[in-house]
Amino acid sequence: MAKAQQRIEQAEQGNFLRFLKNAEIRDASPLVVANDAAALAALDANEPSGWTIGDIGICPVGMGKCNVGGPSLTGETVKSAFAPVPGGPKNCVRCRFFITGPAFLGGLVAKFNSTGVLLLEASDRLRKIEAEINGIEDRAEPDELRLLGHAYSRRDTILEEVDTVAYNWHACFALVQRCKAALKVVNGGGLSLVLVGNAADLNAALEECSNFELYNAVCQVAAVYPNDSPVVSTLRRGRLLDVMLSRNGRRPVFATLSEDETLAVGNEFVNLLMARIGRAETVDLIEGRRMLESTGIEEDVDRLLSGQVGSPIKLATIRPLPPLDAVTPNVETEN
Ligand code: SF4
Repeated sequence: MAKAQQRIEQAEQGNFLRFLKNAEIRDASPLVVANDAAALAALDANEPSGWTIGDIGICPVGMGKCNVGGPSLTGETVKSAFAPVPGGPKNCVRCRFFITGPAFLGGLVAKFNSTGVLLLEASDRLRKIEAEINGIEDRAEPDELRLLGHAYSRRDTILEEVDTVAYNWHACFALVQRCKAALKVVNGGGLSLVLVGNAADLNAALEECSNFELYNAVCQVAAVYPNDSPVVSTLRRGRLLDVMLSRNGRRPVFATLSEDETLAVGNEFVNLLMARIGRAETVDLIEGRRMLESTGIEEDVDRLLSGQVGSPIKLATIRPLPPLDAVTPNVETEN
């Protein structure tokens, strides 16, 4: 499915490129989505052979102006009139030269989700360091207090990271929303041009979801859209699936697999669950609100996972011993 989507998107991106080459049409079209007028000016100023096409859009300056892709610095006594792109080089979603459009919606949604995973992960680290700082302050042990300076500086670094990732996430979301709006203008909301699926699929990909769904969304498209958080998503989804298996009398499977296997087997396993019991019940199963035996797909699950790891995954049930006084001793008597 992901490969099929990739092929459709590549065809659409080819169409979009042909359309961008016509200056008169593109300048008046709502299909061109950019952060700043500098993007259209850069399209005019540079030959199409110098444009760089990526999964989420187009850099019309051949990736060569990240150092001046940020906001204007007019009035400041600095060498350049523009700041570097916020968040670092190649952070295209916040660059004034970046161009995108509905043909890149799949890549933008994948980027939005993988940035969401980075935000979750950085927020977890922030919570941990704040708990550590609170603990040291509450205990007020002289030996420990010496560690506070170091802990404060680590917290500042993580805070900066959370701030940057949150801005990237919002920038990406804004581009997705504008691409959706552009589609509505040109074809009344139909998404057949750019996504395998429909408007409901895109809205589902963007709506508020559980951590498991977010990790799964990143894992499912990892082969098509290389992203910033495949390892975190793969490992965290694998851990959630193992916890679910343990809760249901099975041994953990994903902890024993390599990273690539965890990704591939996890995708197949979750696809099986979603196909057989639906999205909502799959989430209930993973989050412990439903047990596997109530789904009626125990055998399929055991077959799929046992086949992948080469041995049974269902744990033997241990029969409880009868109470001692219920055991009749078998004493042989001598006649
Ligand atoms: S941030 Fe992206 S769009 Fe901007 S100059 Fe760099 S590569 Fe090009």
